[in-house]
Amino acid sequence: MKKWIFFIFPLVIISFFAYEYIEFAEAPRTLLAVENDQVYRGELLLVSRDFSISEQGLPNDIVMLGDYKSMAPELWVPDTSIRISRNLLQNLGLMLKEAKKDRVDHFMINSAYRNLDTQAQLYKEMGSEYALPAGHSEHNLGLSVDIGSTDGSMDTAPEGRWLEQNAWKYGFILRYPKNKREVTGIQYEPWHFRFVGFPHSAIMHKENWVLEEYLAYLREHRQYKTTVQGIKYEITYYEMVEGLEVPVIPERPYYISGDNMSGVIVTVER
Ligand SMILES: [Zn+2]
Repeated sequence: MKKWIFFIFPLVIISFFAYEYIEFAEAPRTLLAVENDQVYRGELLLVSRDFSISEQGLPNDIVMLGDYKSMAPELWVPDTSIRISRNLLQNLGLMLKEAKKDRVDHFMINSAYRNLDTQAQLYKEMGSEYALPAGHSEHNLGLSVDIGSTDGSMDTAPEGRWLEQNAWKYGFILRYPKNKREVTGIQYEPWHFRFVGFPHSAIMHKENWVLEEYLAYLREHRQYKTTVQGIKYEITYYEMVEGLEVPVIPERPYYISGDNMSGVIVTVER
């Protein structure tokens, strides 16, 4: 064997580990101060029978759907007075445009944002079996939408099937799946989609988690690392304390959301 091999071989090994080290080592971080009320703001808020929305969690980008219909031209709007978050509508529009490419385009919208008074009225009319009290519905957050199909019921229509398989790619999740009633406390709702943003929707889809399970995982394990569509994400949970500071990577995108319980989730793109 040639002598040079004894030099080259260790060099290759060292280079490999050096690359891995640089790739995965802690990139330089700066500390970011997080306000206490961040716990109650953001796209990962858990709102349920047990956790109600806080004043800080109320959306501030609600518009009349009739005025902004052009943002989701694929959507049939039976009631133009439906109110919706502009951000949600924009993401919904992007998703439905993709569905149309797959020739699935008979979508209709039944409900999006509801204010607390409307929710209270609904609860009074429908009762606790079919509605949630004011402040306990995701519709009060402005992050959920009830989508229907003009081709029949969502559990069998192509629109329902398509969304169940693809919504995660656009930041949405089927919030109350069939086999998760014990976890969510809500029966299967093939029409109710919740916006949680990317990459959270991708993680929940991959792990087959509903929001309750995802947040429980983060609280227990503190961190989840993943690579989605070539981008590395680091998702870290922090218990809220006075004067909380969280590390982020300078000049890299980051997102912060509360869990509406006791902490915040910091998502850093590597
Ligand atoms: Zn709903």
